[in-house]
Amino acid sequence: MADIIIVGAGPAGLSAAIYARRAGMDTVLYEAEMYGGQIVNTPEVENYPAIAKISGFDFAQDLYNQAVNLGAVLEFDKVTSVTKTETGFEVALESGKTDTCKAVILAVGASNRHLGIAREDELLGKGISYCATCDGSFYKGKTVAVNGGGNTAVEDAIYLAGIVDKVYLIHRRNEFRAEDVLVEAAKKLPNLEIVTPYTIGTLLGDPKLSGVEVISKEDGSKKTIDVDGLFVAIGQEPKTADFKDLVTLQGGYIEAGENCKTNVEGIFAAGDARVKKVRQLTTACADGAVAALAAIDYIKLGV
Ligand code: NAP
Repeated sequence: MADIIIVGAGPAGLSAAIYARRAGMDTVLYEAEMYGGQIVNTPEVENYPAIAKISGFDFAQDLYNQAVNLGAVLEFDKVTSVTKTETGFEVALESGKTDTCKAVILAVGASNRHLGIAREDELLGKGISYCATCDGSFYKGKTVAVNGGGNTAVEDAIYLAGIVDKVYLIHRRNEFRAEDVLVEAAKKLPNLEIVTPYTIGTLLGDPKLSGVEVISKEDGSKKTIDVDGLFVAIGQEPKTADFKDLVTLQGGYIEAGENCKTNVEGIFAAGDARVKKVRQLTTACADGAVAALAAIDYIKLGV
């Protein structure tokens, strides 16, 4: 039996593993996809204290190395359910295997929100992308749009402006949720045009995307913007569906306070999937530390 099973190897899960291992806990991480979580898709991280600039990929790699070098075990398998037992918890995995532990940290993170409009799935990989750093280079010398008004959208638009001929940044409000410093940087780029307040109504082109029809939020008027690619960056949704009967959720996010304790003793929540106001790399890592220390207290002291 492991001491702690951590579900998810993003910044929160890997940070939790570092703290757990430093306390001598037998620690296993289960990750369904690639370790590093969403930060892997961020071109430049410039707001992590004491690291002036680092790529999201390098950050994730360094964090992974740190956790594994301390003795954390990472298994690539999806946790499909967690069940409380008399001695702790049983974790069921997609591979059909099971594992047991004394405490669980849910650091499952979030996935990209979809627009939910016609042909979005059909055009995935044929002009539609949710990851500028993964797919941006396919659009060298072309025209693309980014949809969204948060940090991700504005960072993506700036990144793409360095690769493609022209970027339209389409957002449904005139005000951006993104940090001012990013919005100001975007406004200075000669090949970046801001299109607000507009939503995307129709995806055009067959078999590949050739444009988007956007709808004005002010007067409902429509116009067509010709693009070869559309990068959707309209936020995330928590990956908590498998745990909805295990812990209390609020709007899909796991209900747990700053102490990372869920309503189930021995289960802790960390990172973007936890109910919270600020979802940043710093807060994800902080959650990992808090959740691990709380899990250690639970195992050692029963509190
Ligand atoms: P976000 O901050 O939640 O922003 C999502 C954006 O998409 C908002 O501007 C929202 O519009 C828009 N939106 C949502 N649903 C939409 C829909 N159906 N149609 C059109 N637009 C829609 O998401 P994010 O940018 O992915 O960032 C997520 C978190 O990660 C945030 O806390 C962010 O600060 C953080 N992050 C930080 C960094 C960094 O620090 N370097 C980088 C990336 C992300 P409204 O504004 O009108 O609601």
